[in-house]
Order: sequence, then C-alpha cells, then structure tokens
Amino acid sequence: MSEFLLKPRIRFGQDALSALAEVPARQALLVTDQMMVKVGLADRVTQILRQRGIPFLCWDDVVADPDITTVVRGMKLMDGCYPDLVIALGGGSVIDAAKAVMFALAQTRPHLGRERPCFVAIPTTSGTGSEVTSFSVVKARSEKLVLVDPSLLPDIAILDPSLVASVPPAITADTGMDVLCHALEAYVSRAASDFSDALAEKVVQQVFRYLPACWRDGHDLLAREKMHNASCMAGMAFTNASLGITHSLAHALGGVFRVPHGRANALLMAQVVAWNADHDGQCDTQAAHKYARLAHLLDLPAQTPREGVNSLLVAIQALKDEMKMPAGIGDTGLLAADFDQRLAEMVSQALRDNCTPTNPRAPDARALTELYRKAWCGTLAAGH
Ligand code: NAD
Repeated sequence: MSEFLLKPRIRFGQDALSALAEVPARQALLVTDQMMVKVGLADRVTQILRQRGIPFLCWDDVVADPDITTVVRGMKLMDGCYPDLVIALGGGSVIDAAKAVMFALAQTRPHLGRERPCFVAIPTTSGTGSEVTSFSVVKARSEKLVLVDPSLLPDIAILDPSLVASVPPAITADTGMDVLCHALEAYVSRAASDFSDALAEKVVQQVFRYLPACWRDGHDLLAREKMHNASCMAGMAFTNASLGITHSLAHALGGVFRVPHGRANALLMAQVVAWNADHDGQCDTQAAHKYARLAHLLDLPAQTPREGVNSLLVAIQALKDEMKMPAGIGDTGLLAADFDQRLAEMVSQALRDNCTPTNPRAPDARALTELYRKAWCGTLAAGH
C-alpha cells in the first residue's frame, strides 16, 4: 500500500494575498528577509495585519540558506512572543527557516503543551515548492541537512503571482530550473506514483512553456502565475515521491561552495539525467523510458528511449542557454584547485543525503565523483 499526502490548503491566483485577511489570529509572527522589506512585500503583509488590529512581531533578517544559528535565533524570538499565527514570506530560505524553528520548538518544548500556531507560507520565488513540502533544508557548517517530517507542512499556502514579479532574471532562472529538477527527479524516483507522475508531467510542460517568458519579462503575470503554480505542483510531487541525486549533489555543492540551490541543480541536472538513463550504454532503463515520455509530451522527437533522452537533454541545454546560465560548474568562477580539494567531502555528503535512496539508479562514490567532474565541464557526450 502507498500513500499520497495532500496538505496544505492552497489559495492561488491574482490577489491571493488577500486570503490572509481571513485567517483568524490574536498575535502573529512574520518571518521574512531584508529583500522583502526593500521591495515592499513585507509592507503588504503588515498592512493586512494592521488593518485587522492583530499585533505582530517581525523577524526580517533571515539569510539565504539558513543555518543552525539562524534557527536558534528564531526559536528565542518565537518562544518569547507566543504567536498563534506564523507567516513565512519569502523564498525557500525564509519558509525553511520558519519550518525548522517551529519543528525545533515542538521537539524541545513539548512539556509546555502549546498548540502549534497556524502556519501560512507565502512563497516569493517560484522554485522550491517549500510551501507544500514536508522538507526543510538547514545548513550545519558546510553541510546542508534535509529535515523530512510531515509536521513541517504549512497549514495554508498563498500563491500570489504579483509577489514574484520583482525577482530578478538570474534568480528567476535559478529557481525555475529548480522547479524543473523537482519534476524530473520526482518523475523517475523509486517512490513515484500515478499521482506524482501526473503533477510532474504538467510541471515539465509549464516550465518549458513559461519560464523563458518570466525570465524575459518579470512582470508578465500570466507567465509568473503559471510558473508559481508549477513550482507548487512540483513540490506536491516531490514531497510524496522524494527526489534524487541531482539534489544530493547540489546540496553538497551549495553547502561547501555557496552555489545558489537552483543554479546548482541546473549545473548538475543533465549529467544525472544521462547517467540515470544509461546514456553511455544501452539507454534502455526505466528512467530512460520515462524521460522519453516527457520528451514526447514536449512534442520533441522520441521514437526510441535514446532519441527521447537526447531530445530532453538538448531541450534542457537550450533552456539554460536562453537564460544565459553557466554551462558547467567551472563557468561559475570557482577555482579548479578548490573544487578538487573538496570533491571527496562533497561526494561523501551526497552519498548520505536524504534524497539519494530514491534515485532510480543507486550511485557509489566513484559514480558521484564522475558526475561532479562532468558537471565541472558542463559538456555532454552527443547521443549515439
Ligand atoms: P532564496 O529563498 O534563498 O532566495 C534567493 C534570493 O532571492 C534571496 O536573496 C531573496 O531575498 C531573493 N528574493 C526572494 N523573493 C524575491 C522577490 N519576490 N523579489 C526579489 N528578490 C527576491 O531562494 P530559493 O531558491 O527560493 O530557496 C532556496 C533554499 O530553499 C535553499 O536553502 C534550498 O536548499 C532550499 N530548498 C528547500 C526545499 C524544501 O522543500 N523545503 C526544496 C528545495 C530547496
């Protein structure tokens, strides 16, 4: 028997932010970052709270890729203000910080018997899908740890495309490739199901259709809405089906070298697709067949698994090129010597990552080392 968990309640579309006015609360905590303050999005939320006369505290300096120090700071803050409503407004970093703080408080203060506050996640990037996932990524020194627990799921997710309009093109590209990676990895995961497949197929079609438009014009609200919904659907897929080694490798690359999460995925994704498909060999794995199915859905040549995999690889490369993304890790400004020096450490982090067990092909240290080396150059062998 399998399970497919659906949570939270999702309010979406233009003006979805107004749904916040319907959430009952006596005292709120707004978790956000300085960019949200700068671009005026934090104000849009606090205005709603003020209009409703709800007292609130604002924790507005969450940093990208939150670490344990950030979580401890949040715990102290939240412990002192007893909110019955927690609102996370930001990208995956902010939402994950709020999740980790609530989780840590519930683990360490169970004797207080406090009711869990209502948790509203309002994503301002179309990328992680964290608003609907039971995952939270927290850094401990140079390692990104993936917490997985159903209690991390928010109660309400608000998807308002106007909140994503200010995301600059480079971050639009990074986060959009994260969405694609979530869908690809959930689709070929060992824990994939009919339910996650349906979501992943829709996501892949929407990303190829709407991501370039978002990158060209951030204020194209139709394209933004489609990508925002795709990001959420990808989150629904992978919170149930889990992910694969693109994420494991990307977590380690991001933890050690601070490469933004979506960009790290974009740098590694094609290599992992090729490896999962056994592109250098028979190209007849179950994953190869599923990648070919995606190519077919994208109206690309896919008469055989090999032709389909080739088509998908070319399409991924073209999407990256169109958004002027770096081809290989070596094009991001990292020094080869530094990369080589930390390679074994990254490989061992990736091997023990929570996303590795569901990858369709089981990797060993040698395979992961090879994948990092290929991703350094960013070149793929042309299809046979
Ligand atoms: P992010 O939250 O780190 O944000 C990236 C940058 O974009 C930040 O500087 C932020 O201030 C800025 N930004 C966000 N929204 C903006 C807006 N509307 N306008 C202008 N700037 C804006 O990036 P992310 O990719 O959303 O999240 C990445 C983090 O999420 C990583 O730590 C990653 O490991 C984690 N993650 C979590 C999950 C999950 O399920 N919980 C899944 C994938 C990744």
